[in-house]
Amino acid sequence: MHDPIVIVGGGHAAAALCAGLAAAGLGPRVHLVCDEPELPYQRPPLSKAFLRNPAEALQLHRPEAWYAQAGITVHRADAALAIDRAAATVRLRSGTVLPYGRLVLATGARARGLPHLPAPLANVHALRSAADALRLRAALADAATVTLLGGGFIGLEIAASARAMGKAVTVLEAAPRLLARSVSPALATQVLAVHRAAGIEVRLGVAVGGFEVEGERLAGLAVDGRREPIEQLVLGIGAEPMQGLAQAAGLDCANGIAVDACLRTSDPAVLALGDCCSFPAADGSGRHLRLESVPNATEQARTALATLQGRSEPYAALPWFWSEQGGLRLQMAGLLPAEATSHRRPGATPASFSLLHYAGPRLACVESVNAPHDHLAARKLLEAGKSPPPALACDPAVPLKNHL
Ligand code: FAD
Ligand code: NAP
Repeated sequence: MHDPIVIVGGGHAAAALCAGLAAAGLGPRVHLVCDEPELPYQRPPLSKAFLRNPAEALQLHRPEAWYAQAGITVHRADAALAIDRAAATVRLRSGTVLPYGRLVLATGARARGLPHLPAPLANVHALRSAADALRLRAALADAATVTLLGGGFIGLEIAASARAMGKAVTVLEAAPRLLARSVSPALATQVLAVHRAAGIEVRLGVAVGGFEVEGERLAGLAVDGRREPIEQLVLGIGAEPMQGLAQAAGLDCANGIAVDACLRTSDPAVLALGDCCSFPAADGSGRHLRLESVPNATEQARTALATLQGRSEPYAALPWFWSEQGGLRLQMAGLLPAEATSHRRPGATPASFSLLHYAGPRLACVESVNAPHDHLAARKLLEAGKSPPPALACDPAVPLKNHL
């Protein structure tokens, strides 16, 4: 492998791949193209500690000197605008044209906007980048009330952070329950109870209609036909894969850049990984998945490294997720099956437990609340394909790891 490797995107997937390439001594062949001005940084704190604490700095994956030492050329504040696959080049906004032997797309996702809402408005926010987080942090400093549209991970993490800062917080969710895309109904019920007990107003099944704009601000929202005044509004209504660059280059895309199990796109010289890619599920079902999580981005970087080095290591990592919402630490391992029977394993305190979801006799997914030991054990059980019978697995006197 002697040709340049160009990585487009400076997020978690790109950072992990850079680390792997540097460890393999391939850094001098790597060009990292980031449209953000910062070096790759950790996104999870942006909705948590970074938002709550003005003294909190961005957490870089690695300092600038590391990239220089590894021989990686970093193009910051410069976006890839077009791929010429025939010429095997990428054109950047700065005018630079980078030739590649292999191209890796790690372009992530962007926050979904609300159709018909005029943008930009001074008191309407999304949270995806460090710039978004700084803008929201500044707005929250002076705000008494905050409205979150969307009761997914991002809406609830920001709601918990804002509540911890003493704000009056309202969450408006269109679906009849919270976290409908990512957790079981039983866990969502528990999460709802905790947020309401913390003083967050959560309204489910709402329909948001018209907007009342005054100058550069959103003054009110029509919610279920009634006007709600808005001081600060944060949109947490999902994310869309950044696939425009790939699409324009003629690569197959369908809810993400389509890749095979080795993360090759429809052009084998081009790979894609992380939030932007849609990959085949490892269960052989033929389904394609697109996962938006740090563990997925990090694990896919291992597969991409193997592919770049000419090894075939199909992606088959167990999906897992986490979220911190005030005093709630949620950890999920495995994917919820369409039809599950669920069992509750009590934890060490009343506020901690795990939900074990079985597809027939097979343990398929474990959701843990403030139970990190159970989560780690669950990941190992699921990776090993072990399925202790529910009665044994839910006996709190026996550590879950004993069933390995
Ligand atoms: P990203 O990290 O989004 O990186 C993509 C990068 O590519 C971005 O910098 C983007 O600007 C850049 N880019 C896009 N197009 C171009 C282009 N044409 N040229 C150059 N650069 C380009 N996950 C968890 O597992 N746990 C959490 O607690 C958690 N918390 C989160 C909190 C917040 C506020 C957010 C926004 C996300 C959170 N996530 C969390 C999700 C997690 O951050 C993402 O799944 C992860 O960042 C995906 O990594 P990625 O590299 O695929 O994409
Ligand atoms: P999400 O999990 O898709 O949740 C969005 C929620 O908003 C859904 O419940 C959705 O309901 C609802 N919604 C959509 N349109 C609405 C409307 N018009 N009015 C009211 N509610 C509406 O996405 P997210 O929470 O915005 O997160 C965005 C990205 O950040 C994702 O990539 C996510 O993985 C990432 N993130 C991850 C974490 C973590 O893993 N801990 C933390 C923060 C952010 P429907 O499903 O019915 O559309």
